Amino acid sequence: MQIAIPAEYTAGETRVAATPETVKKIVAMGHSVVVERGAGLKSAILDAAFAAAGATVVDSRQAALSQGDIVLKVRPASAEELAEMKPGAALISLMNPYANTMLPLMAEKKLSAFSMELLPRTTRAQSMDVLSSQNNIAGYRAVLLACQYYPHFMPMLMTAAGTVKPARVLILGVGVAGLQAIATAKRLGAVVEAFDVRPATKEQVESMGAKFIEVPMSEEEKAQNDGVYAKEMSDDYKRRQAELVDKHARQADIVITTALIPGRPAPRLLAADTVLGMKPGSVIIDMAAENGGNCELTKSNEVFVTEQGVTLVGTHNLPSLLAADASSLYARNLLTFLSLMLTKEGFAIQMEDELLDATLITHNGEVRFGKTQG
Ligand code: NAD
Repeated sequence: MQIAIPAEYTAGETRVAATPETVKKIVAMGHSVVVERGAGLKSAILDAAFAAAGATVVDSRQAALSQGDIVLKVRPASAEELAEMKPGAALISLMNPYANTMLPLMAEKKLSAFSMELLPRTTRAQSMDVLSSQNNIAGYRAVLLACQYYPHFMPMLMTAAGTVKPARVLILGVGVAGLQAIATAKRLGAVVEAFDVRPATKEQVESMGAKFIEVPMSEEEKAQNDGVYAKEMSDDYKRRQAELVDKHARQADIVITTALIPGRPAPRLLAADTVLGMKPGSVIIDMAAENGGNCELTKSNEVFVTEQGVTLVGTHNLPSLLAADASSLYARNLLTFLSLMLTKEGFAIQMEDELLDATLITHNGEVRFGKTQG
């Protein structure tokens, strides 16, 4: 099998879907790899390193894509990229399936397209879970971004010139990104509070030495959110939550919002009034900016300072700010996933494998997403 690694052309995207480490392993399995020239440069990987690992470096995207029986990518493929791919090839990448308008085109080309966002959150899938590996990086990077804009120290400092108070950090949404943000802010010496609609997160927050802020919930509401992913809550719950978040955000120096609900716009957690009531110099990092934002005032992919001196950061794609490790972990996730299908002789999709069944969104000329899955 020939495996193709094109460069990523989406603005701001610095990652690549393979590294010399994963290329070496694919080649050792008896397959060949073509890499587009310069594909790894923004992740600190030179063409020579790919070549030394056994890949053939080709001069254009078209040369890479047209040779690929299997294409590994980071971002959803564009119409141009799809046009350059071999009919019937396999494509493995993030695909943003709920909003992807290319699915009919992918089916028309008879691609077997695997959307990594749809991987079940099971123990077996953990080593292939790109959302976890990338959100972990995003949570870490969000705290560093906050430090960049916050005009004070994070830790408490006792100096000859007097004492500096520690920063108060509020994390909204305690999934993979939120947990890493808590850990990173704690390491920097901040005082950390966190909130999530899933009651199960309380123990996780407290085990990291942060304070969990709690919206009183009925037994019915608790039961509604005892799953892996958050569900849309009632209007009454949202009102109680907004009051609590408002109170804690006004006391915070840094607010990092990470709340997402798969397939839906990001929930609104910070009202404009709350932002207006925050302290001058405080910083909001809205990690859901790409999905509509958790804060009413976020400007997509922009950083701005309100008249009251609050910095609102809507920067997209935080994993791309740590490109080398983001690519390294992403590439390992993809290799483990690919290994479910690669054999010495070629490539076989076992439909009875729940991980393949859940992620395969187009196959045999049909769109499966929204029909047999999604
Ligand atoms: P996510 O990115 O989908 O969402 C981030 C967090 O926002 C979630 O914790 C969610 O509950 C929270 N949220 C949603 N709406 C909210 C609201 N209105 N107010 C406050 N918070 C809100 O989450 P994720 O990082 O992908 O993790 C989702 C789940 O998957 C977690 O339970 C995590 O432990 C689990 N997980 C399991 C595995 C595995 O077993 N393989 C791997 C990774 C994550």
